[in-house]
Amino acid sequence: MQTPELLSYLQPSAAGPWGDFVEQLERARPQLGDLSPLLETLKRPRRILIVDLPVRMDDGSIRHFEGYRVQHNTSRGPGKGGIRFHAAVTLPEVMALAGWMTVKNAVISVPFGGAKGGVRVDPRGLSLAEKERLTRRYASEIGLIVGPDKDIPAPDVNTDEQTMAWIMDTYSVNRGRAEMGAVTGKPIELGGSQGRREATGRGVFVAARTAAERLNLAVAGSRVCVQGFGNVGAVAARCFQQAGAKVVAVQTSGGTLFNPDGLDIASLLQRYQPGSRWQAGAGEELLPGAAFWEIESDFLIPAALEGQIDAEKAGRIRTRMIVEGANGPTTPAADDVLAGRGITVIPDVLANAGGVLVSYFEWVQDLSAYFWDEAEVNSRLDAIMSTAVTAVWNAALESGKGLRNAAFVIGCRRILQAHRLRGIYP
Ligand code: NAD
Repeated sequence: MQTPELLSYLQPSAAGPWGDFVEQLERARPQLGDLSPLLETLKRPRRILIVDLPVRMDDGSIRHFEGYRVQHNTSRGPGKGGIRFHAAVTLPEVMALAGWMTVKNAVISVPFGGAKGGVRVDPRGLSLAEKERLTRRYASEIGLIVGPDKDIPAPDVNTDEQTMAWIMDTYSVNRGRAEMGAVTGKPIELGGSQGRREATGRGVFVAARTAAERLNLAVAGSRVCVQGFGNVGAVAARCFQQAGAKVVAVQTSGGTLFNPDGLDIASLLQRYQPGSRWQAGAGEELLPGAAFWEIESDFLIPAALEGQIDAEKAGRIRTRMIVEGANGPTTPAADDVLAGRGITVIPDVLANAGGVLVSYFEWVQDLSAYFWDEAEVNSRLDAIMSTAVTAVWNAALESGKGLRNAAFVIGCRRILQAHRLRGIYP
């Protein structure tokens, strides 16, 4: 167990994602008026569960993994947020990811609080059967506090529809009934929603397009750089290419591919193997990782992990607009540098909200056992995302403090109003 992390999480100066989240809350405080004393509630997760996961490996040995589920806030509704499998997962990281979910769900007005889960594991080192046993044990352990009306998990880094199917099955078997609404991001055959797989990347694109209109920046013919080519990055890249943009660079943990005339996203999708290195094809060049941040572009989409853009990188980036597909990719110090350089940042709590929005649609469909077609899902996604971007844009114009601050102010007001109306029990 990581006791020092537990004790340190309330330290206001804690470095890393949780410290970044707390700093972002504090930056919203001056605009919260008489709600500002209630902000303290968002600086403490409501509930944290730490679980030990013994897993029988294929060779008969038993390994132990540490997992978490954090329910950051449930003032506006049940917890909602993904589950991450990654070797670098820590409790403060999961706390920050849960906090960003609370704010995000409020910014787009879906009736959820914020939660997140994670297991510290490198899933590439597991067979499929080992991954299934790990997932089911984790699902069983967190089954104490999750459920369709309590906290609804979804995919995140290194988890997918199959992972969600195992979680749904484990939860259902333990309760003796089929619980389709227990998780979202499921396969269509198990109550998944049309359009959910593409929703986050598609939402990133809609957010970028809506904001670009305000800057008179045309998407067609623009240059785009994408970090991360998974669920979020690959779909966003494809949407930009379909709209006539040139995706000039893609960076993954397997290297950086560059083509000034535009990479062929369909070819990259065929060649992409999570974790393995890119081989440069015709017209493509492999670049050293650091060079990625200096490539000239109109849109830069970080869609990998948090903390990628620090103040130093922010000084080298050459783009018009950063659209945060990932959660927490930009540190507060980097935000200041980017603002000083006139680079627009569409913050994560707005830009990547399409995923949880369609997760909400999926949950609504599961609870009503009535399913929508893809056109309906996409048109609702487009409408709600562009309305939210416009509202945040207008608020930022009024305050002059940037889009992240505006999104946090809008989100925190909604959460803290709900908190105040519910009152402090007992
Ligand atoms: P994923 O596992 O599908 O893909 C992650 C990608 O990031 C991979 O291509 C990997 O190679 C790349 N990557 C990892 N480490 C890297 C590094 N150090 N440098 C460059 N590339 C690196 O994950 P995902 O679901 O696409 O999630 C990506 C980000 O988007 C995360 O921050 C996640 O929290 C956020 N997000 C995901 C969703 C969703 O619906 N999946 C929704 C909202 C936000």
